[in-house]
Amino acid sequence: MGEIAVVTGGGQGIGFGIADALASAGYDIAIMDRDRSVAEAAVARLRESHPGVRVMASIADVTVKAEVEAGMADIGEGLGPIDVLVNNAGILRDRRLVNLEEEDWDAVIDTNLKSQYLTCRAVVPGMIERNYGRIVNISSRAWLGGFGQANYAAAKGGVVSLTRTLAIELAKHGITANAIAPGIVQTPIFDKLAEDVRTKLAASVPARRIGQPSDVANAVLFFASRQSSYVNGQLLYVCGGRSLSSPSV
Ligand code: NDP
Repeated sequence: MGEIAVVTGGGQGIGFGIADALASAGYDIAIMDRDRSVAEAAVARLRESHPGVRVMASIADVTVKAEVEAGMADIGEGLGPIDVLVNNAGILRDRRLVNLEEEDWDAVIDTNLKSQYLTCRAVVPGMIERNYGRIVNISSRAWLGGFGQANYAAAKGGVVSLTRTLAIELAKHGITANAIAPGIVQTPIFDKLAEDVRTKLAASVPARRIGQPSDVANAVLFFASRQSSYVNGQLLYVCGGRSLSSPSV
């Protein structure tokens, strides 16, 4: 039996890539997502490609405390105590500030930031009891600020601060918390963009390509591992060098 990892928003996109990589590395996986059909389809794919790994779906809206608590309890019963928590669920609602409604602010802050507090609140006491845990929070390069992204940038900046604080509080319990800031990653949203926009975006990356979910997953694997025990509270950019370059590059 492997270590047990939960991936929020693991039904598709980057989250599925993370779940797939963790399963390849021998972790048992719980996918926490809000859409049952998406989560169950992801579980079926993982079972097929990783027959030796235990996989389950946990259906929860990660912005709702009672659902997160119930979901984490189900995972504890179904798989066992949680070793690795990957907080990946997130949404975008880009609008310039003058068009940004309170509802857009709240939805983005709740999904990207409050959810991470709720999942940690539910999982960390068990990690403290066992004196071991790995928390990996997905932020974004957009935490640096982005046009039309006041809500998203604030949420993803909050993720960085939350991660640093968790690291300070939890290090003495054998728990690490680290964050990842992806650049542009190829998920269904990206594929829907016009071809010229996709080409332009790829050209804006020093690596001259868009990231893949597996690029993010490879960074998660390190933070999730026992080998990363002395790395805590860090933010790792996975962006093909885009965070280093001026807008003209
Ligand atoms: P996707 O939309 O492809 O996947 C996100 C998953 O999270 C979906 O299954 C979604 O379900 C689920 N989800 C959203 N809200 C909730 C909720 N309240 N409760 C439970 N599940 C929820 O996103 P990506 O894979 O593109 O992004 C994953 C993470 O990476 C996000 O945190 C994002 O901000 C971050 N990121 C992505 C980048 C990119 O270029 N793609 C770049 C930088 C960061 P549903 O479909 O129902 O909404």
